[in-house]
Amino acid sequence: MTVLKILNIPNPRLRNKAILVKKVDDEIRKFMDDLKETCKFHDGVGLASIQVGDPRSIIFINFDEESPGHCYYMANPRITWKSDKMIESKEGCLSVPDVFNTIMRHAEIKIDYLDYNNEMRSAHFKENMSRYIQHEVDHLEGILYIDHLSLLKRKILMKKYSKILAEKSFELE
Ligand SMILES: [Zn+2]
Repeated sequence: MTVLKILNIPNPRLRNKAILVKKVDDEIRKFMDDLKETCKFHDGVGLASIQVGDPRSIIFINFDEESPGHCYYMANPRITWKSDKMIESKEGCLSVPDVFNTIMRHAEIKIDYLDYNNEMRSAHFKENMSRYIQHEVDHLEGILYIDHLSLLKRKILMKKYSKILAEKSFELE
């Protein structure tokens, strides 16, 4: 397994849209394993293919509230239903490191996807899992969580992010 390089904003490749995979075969499984390795290496909750510059429609979720230790590999994830009820929570992203902000997401979703063994699955997720999956599925559409913020909140966040970046590069000198 390989730890892949994660793209950070403002890399334009984060705005690419993912392409559906035909079948979850050994090659895709190898990539899924690399996504898992990369996500765990960075202590992330989830990771999407687009974040490592790969256009194939795949996400990895390093979390399962109902069975700890279990994780999800999803190819071609498609949200088929979203609850009207919304939840508000703090989010961060491995592609926008070191900053966080509160955003609204649907409290529950239903989703179809192909699993690690190329089986078609339909699942219903609530609360945190629902949020994590919406965040990763957004990446496959070239959407970042900061896009859900108001213009003002996004401006403040970007200012903070630039400051952190500048401090980091100063430390490297
Ligand atoms: Zn993210």
